[in-house]
Amino acid sequence: MRPAHALIDLSALRHNYRLAKSLTGCRALAVVKANAYGHGAVECAAALGEEADGFAVSAIEEALVLRAAGHRQPIVLLEGWFEPAELELICQHDLWPVIHHHGQVADLRVANLRQPLNAWLKLDSGMHRTGFSVAEYPQVWRELQASGKVASLTKITHFARADEPETGRTEQQLETFMQATAGLEGPCSLSNSAGVLAWPSAYGDWVRPGIMLYGSSPFGFAQEQAAQLRPVMQLDSRVIAVHDIAAGEPIGYGSRFVTQRPSRIGVVAMGYADGYPRHAPDGTPVLVDGQRTCISGRVSMDMLTVDLTDLPASGLGSHVRLWGEGLDAGEVAQCAGTISYQLFCNLNRVPRHYRG
Ligand SMILES: *Cc1c(COP(=O)(O)O)cnc(C)c1O
Repeated sequence: MRPAHALIDLSALRHNYRLAKSLTGCRALAVVKANAYGHGAVECAAALGEEADGFAVSAIEEALVLRAAGHRQPIVLLEGWFEPAELELICQHDLWPVIHHHGQVADLRVANLRQPLNAWLKLDSGMHRTGFSVAEYPQVWRELQASGKVASLTKITHFARADEPETGRTEQQLETFMQATAGLEGPCSLSNSAGVLAWPSAYGDWVRPGIMLYGSSPFGFAQEQAAQLRPVMQLDSRVIAVHDIAAGEPIGYGSRFVTQRPSRIGVVAMGYADGYPRHAPDGTPVLVDGQRTCISGRVSMDMLTVDLTDLPASGLGSHVRLWGEGLDAGEVAQCAGTISYQLFCNLNRVPRHYRG
């Protein structure tokens, strides 16, 4: 079989979840949207099991998969419902929707619910993506509380730049949140991974760690708490061909890379159809038998090429790690002009194997 695969370390996932809990002392929703950032939502949720205080997903489709797998904990729908017809299932399965716009409030007004909802009410504290404005928030809050349609209401907001501590934006968003929710009783939830790792003032009652569960830092710099994370996904393959190439020869599509010296070039069974970024430039790091070398030549659909000239002991069949332990996905992402989130979510075709 083709050797490309992702090895998912579930004990590392549990370690990272426990880190989020121990840093904050809060209840933590394990964010497993988008198939647990490409790691497999069912497997990841099973690995956390009873230990998870709750889960967060983007939509009801993802939540129902977790309920079908037997999870009884709270499941927050981060974008609530998209059509009022979903409310029936939301009640039936006790899913916790985020309410973030007036259309949803209008849906609730006319809904005939079998029981009141445990809802979360979103404040736009400055990211300007979803949520009610500071001016609207208290009024919507009061209307929902008086409506008989909600059993509990949790205040939620989301940070735009918690991964950039120097910008002052998170302090502003916190201040805005405090103002808008002053006097509104009940639990609150503010922090994503960057909040959990760097913003103790923003812990609230529930935290929402996503990327950190998968062992990747949200920061573009070394950070003390993030250094305790363990990578969960190892994206691995093998060298499937080796060629000695003279100096001055082009390698691969578009002749992007031209050998500067007599070179040994290894062909690896990994390409953009697997989710490896096609935009990875020459020089993007790769581990071959645990040693760093780099991409040389354009990434193609099923294969990529690496420089083995300085790794004489490596060759046909050598183990290749594209990211994981020993090679931070964030570093690879940065080379390719993206973030680890996208590398993980783009994982495709390769089988996922699990350990731990
Ligand atoms: C995805 C998401 C999170 C998790 O963010 P990370 O940066 O992955 O920790 C938290 N809250 C909301 C509202 C989200 O959409």
